[in-house]
Amino acid sequence: MAINHPSFGKLADNRIIMFDTTLRDGEQSPGFSMNLQEKLRMAEALAELGIDVMEAGFPIASPGDFESVLSIAQRFAKDGPVVCGLSRTAPADILRAAEAVKPAARKRIHTFVSTSPLHMRVKLRLEPEQVLELVTSSVGLARQHTDDVEWSAEDGTRTDADFLCRCVEAAIKAGATTINIPDTVGYALPEDMTRIFTMVRERVPGADQVVLSAHNHNDLGLAVANTLAAIRAGVRQIEATINGIGERAGNASIEEVVMALRTRADAIPVANGIVTQNILKTSRLLATITGFDVQPNKAIVGRNAFAHESGIHQDGVLKDKSTYEIMTPESVGWSTSSLVMGKHSGRAAFRDKLKAMGYEIGDNQLNDAFRRFKDLADRKKVVYDEDIVALVDDEVVRQNDRLKLVALTVATGMNTRPTASIALEVDGERREGVAAGDGAVDATFNALRQAFPHEVNLKLYAVQSVTGGTDAQARVTVRLEEAGKLVDGQGADTDTIVASARAYVHALNKLLVKRERTEPPAVLRA
Ligand code: MN
Repeated sequence: MAINHPSFGKLADNRIIMFDTTLRDGEQSPGFSMNLQEKLRMAEALAELGIDVMEAGFPIASPGDFESVLSIAQRFAKDGPVVCGLSRTAPADILRAAEAVKPAARKRIHTFVSTSPLHMRVKLRLEPEQVLELVTSSVGLARQHTDDVEWSAEDGTRTDADFLCRCVEAAIKAGATTINIPDTVGYALPEDMTRIFTMVRERVPGADQVVLSAHNHNDLGLAVANTLAAIRAGVRQIEATINGIGERAGNASIEEVVMALRTRADAIPVANGIVTQNILKTSRLLATITGFDVQPNKAIVGRNAFAHESGIHQDGVLKDKSTYEIMTPESVGWSTSSLVMGKHSGRAAFRDKLKAMGYEIGDNQLNDAFRRFKDLADRKKVVYDEDIVALVDDEVVRQNDRLKLVALTVATGMNTRPTASIALEVDGERREGVAAGDGAVDATFNALRQAFPHEVNLKLYAVQSVTGGTDAQARVTVRLEEAGKLVDGQGADTDTIVASARAYVHALNKLLVKRERTEPPAVLRA
């Protein structure tokens, strides 16, 4: 029987609603905070990827969270994905979420409460009957603000079966149109998904008239497997994140779920609206924004995901790709690196190239990006797509940063103590620093601390190359720690020292954002 959904109308039985929570659960990853501009940029990319519902944040958590959900809702005021705000059960929470998502053409309030015996006793200090009342009151209040209401049983997979069914029934009666049963702590096995969702469908009156949803965490590395099992048990919405980011070990990774469904449509014949060719681009954008690369062997989007090393495999692939490739790299947006642009390419060609790669940027940003492109083309024989992506993401994403790297000169060599002089723009004001150090990178970072005094611990410094060759751009990751808070910054340049300075400045910018924000207390985290 087809479900009539307030946001999607008549839903075909085999249609899976893709619910992305990169901007909410994903952003709760330690060190992953994004500023407003970064969230908007990511929201655009997620919409282009074809997700159905975007959980844009947790409006009550902080003024910054509220503002970003509101801005995303305004961005999708005419069309676009359903914009969703998270809330607990308190009326103030729900009203704040309602206010934030209000401008969106299609909006959802997602309210949750813990239902497991442990969470109810220790965290909520409530009796089960009181929790049941909260389910009814919170869903009822949310429904007064939108017809599209999702209810979640936090720690659902460790909840008593009978009580879970009673809660789901109460939520449906109060007007919830999506019922999510999250594996909040990443404890479930695939057979638990089958058991729980089959039980809910068989026992709860009205369960066939709502969308059932799974939200799986990856603490045991089972998030994707559990998500697929949930779909086979009748779940029609899956909650996931780009690159699998999220609390602790993260959430199910959207790209892995989507490509498993596509590659194994023979076993799991369902449909979704994801434009798979945009997967890699979206993954890279998130990595640039957050400063966290995926590991090289990450399925689908890791740089080794389609690389064949052993002679036997290479031989097979050369004869017929399907010998060792179950999906094509092109289907998720990988293209064989091709010479795209050189030092003689003009501004119009550069703009066309960006457009073809999915970037629409304003004139000012284009000018800055083009200047850096010419600079790069002067120093580097061939400019690949990957180089342009690194450069433009750098330029576009960092537009609103308070700190900017303006100039850097380093003198170094054997038998000499390296010195660096640096110029920064801090809130529009120029500041300079000169310092020596043990090596060029150390001297550069010391000069940075002179120009912009701060005390943080450098926890990680890593260099990777964007493409091959000694003239390749270096991508540097710098991790800083201040009062237990971690931030990662990234920077790219053909000069490793310049890339290092960019990465450090990027990390400092993230730290400034972090200082301004109040972190949601642990109890807020779903
Ligand atoms: Mn979660």
